[in-house]
Amino acid sequence: MSLLVIGTVAFDAIETPFGKTDKIIGGAATYASIAASYFTDNINLVSVVGDDFPKEAINNINEHGINTQGLQVKKGEKSFFWSGRYHNDMNTRDTLATELNVLLEFDPVIPDEYQDCEFLMLGNLSPAVQMTVMDRIVRRPKLVVLDTMNFWMDSAWDDLIKAISRVDVLTINDAEARQLANEYSLVKAAQKILSMGPKYLIIKKGEHGALLFNKEQVFFAPALPLEDVFDPTGAGDTFAGGFIGYLARTRDISFDNMKRGIIFGSAMASFCVEKFGTERLIELNTDEVDERVQEFIDLVQFDITLVK
Ligand code: AMP
Repeated sequence: MSLLVIGTVAFDAIETPFGKTDKIIGGAATYASIAASYFTDNINLVSVVGDDFPKEAINNINEHGINTQGLQVKKGEKSFFWSGRYHNDMNTRDTLATELNVLLEFDPVIPDEYQDCEFLMLGNLSPAVQMTVMDRIVRRPKLVVLDTMNFWMDSAWDDLIKAISRVDVLTINDAEARQLANEYSLVKAAQKILSMGPKYLIIKKGEHGALLFNKEQVFFAPALPLEDVFDPTGAGDTFAGGFIGYLARTRDISFDNMKRGIIFGSAMASFCVEKFGTERLIELNTDEVDERVQEFIDLVQFDITLVK
């Protein structure tokens, strides 16, 4: 049994009201695989970087038990670069630059030893590549989760719709759900998106928590109210990594277990935002994760007697 994570491994430059970074290590697959590593072993990564990407950053990923045999390093090419600026509310941001670089010609190769993939995280990347990866995995995984963003809705709509139709769980944020469904109401948007193929939809709402839908049920999990949010970059990918990592650990893909997965994902995301980039995420231990999950339990637990 293994978890395969694909997505960008990247350089990011981030501006928040609290500060600004030069190029730091980021990327959807970086955040998702590291978050998942706190829950499960046997994590395999497929992605691509240029030879400008530091070896020690790859070592850091390996130190979390993540196999990077499927991470291609392209000689003479530049890694994917993304830059963004957060508004004062820290919930919304402007993308300042997206340089696809090495991603433009990316042909994902799945090493033979990755073929026992039971859980597949199609992290944020071009939908064409997400589909190629699905095509190249011989046996369909038990669960396929896809994360994407507005960039691909704007630039690769048709491919994205095809990719979404093939997965079990789609994770997107509220603005992206509205864009994808062309509906303002998230409940209506969710039903429309579920009719496009996925059995489950997770709508991430930043500091306002996350919603899990299937055709009959809905579940809501809050985000932990934090005193300081330093840098929200990667929170969505970290959430998705924690979610699928927990499902891979428990090997239970029921709606009830997905609810628990959402709490673990939200706990991981709450760590991610506490420092710039992956700084906080890479230094955690499982006691801290459990303490954080306990805070979630305490936050939402209440006894109540109904009126009638
Ligand atoms: P999030 O804050 O969860 O949306 O994720 C931000 C991360 O996604 C950053 O580390 C970026 O490198 C990466 N990213 C930004 N834009 C894209 C894109 N168009 N495709 C794939 N990854 C991206």
